[in-house]
Amino acid sequence: MEALITVLPGDGIGPEVCKAGTDVLCAIAAKHGHRFEFSEQLIGGAGIDEAQDPFPANTRSSCAESDAVLLGAVGGPQWSDPNAPIRPEQGLLALRAALEVFANIRPVQILDELADASPIKADRLDGVDIIVVRELTGGIYFGEKTRTEDSASDLCVYHRHEVERILRVAANLANDRRGQLCSVDKANVLETSRFWRDVTVTTMAAEFPDIKLEHMLVDAAAMHLINRPAHFDVIVTENMFGDILTDEASMLAGSMGMLPSASLGESTCGLYEPIHGSAPDIAGKGIANPCGMIGSAALMLRHSFGLDVEATEIESAIRKVISAGIRTADIAGADDSPVSTTEMADAIIQQLR
Ligand code: NAD
Repeated sequence: MEALITVLPGDGIGPEVCKAGTDVLCAIAAKHGHRFEFSEQLIGGAGIDEAQDPFPANTRSSCAESDAVLLGAVGGPQWSDPNAPIRPEQGLLALRAALEVFANIRPVQILDELADASPIKADRLDGVDIIVVRELTGGIYFGEKTRTEDSASDLCVYHRHEVERILRVAANLANDRRGQLCSVDKANVLETSRFWRDVTVTTMAAEFPDIKLEHMLVDAAAMHLINRPAHFDVIVTENMFGDILTDEASMLAGSMGMLPSASLGESTCGLYEPIHGSAPDIAGKGIANPCGMIGSAALMLRHSFGLDVEATEIESAIRKVISAGIRTADIAGADDSPVSTTEMADAIIQQLR
């Protein structure tokens, strides 16, 4: 197949891990006779520095013409003033809105070999295989904001169709797995959560009667993710709760650098990015773990291009390389000699070949 992919390296370690992602995509394309064309564009702080815009017009038009978008990360200390009128995160929110990707999908699987890298006790991690589905384009992050000298407010709004469509994504994923869906809300306090819960009950009863549905308050979910993570199959939740819970869930896997994500909408053009940020503390050192980015490239092949065999080959190459003891610094044990970002990507490419 032929595909045009917009690549948005962004800031910090974004460019380092993006290079690893595109190298792996080139390797899998060569192996299977596909042709991927890359259009590299600015976003975030890099966009502010070069074009005074965190989501420049060229980036917007390239994304609109592409079959999928691969993103590194945005942000860094040089643009961190929360009161600045232009900030890198605005580029990310504008990108998600432009692509209309309302469902963020984050798989969390624990490789046995990395159980020691997790701060959670190994026996709790046994059998952990979770997908968190986060609503991405509604809720408090997108509601009206006000600010006066003495007060501030952020409006949280959810519409029925927004809740129904994210539930369908989550329930379809659960259907192909263990058939369990945990909907996380704060229905004891928030009206939006009570609405979310009502829509969940009616949608699931009408469309997915065979899925085992559970409701959980977000504070309890935060506790159970650490205490009994193997309990969860698919978790579905609203934007801000999902933002927080997915970072928490990432620590089960040992490092932010390991986990991929896909953001999907109605069209096949998805947005694929590792779950980590721009990691300014290690940027430019060549030591970032590229596995989250390479796993995101695999999700792109599966969800945007329908190339499931190729996606599975990449995922299994990552697993084999880790099993062979090749580790970047963030997942290395005391006896391991850590490899660089490039060496990790090269080992995965060798495994693919
Ligand atoms: P972060 O994810 O960048 O880093 C958290 C910790 O994890 C750091 O110690 C970092 O070194 C480590 N880490 C992250 N990715 C790694 C990798 N691939 N390999 C090895 N170690 C890795 O989160 P943060 O420090 O809270 O945020 C830094 C900047 O990133 C901020 O400006 C924030 O706004 C931005 N950010 C961007 C995104 C995004 O672009 N989607 C997401 C989160 C944070």
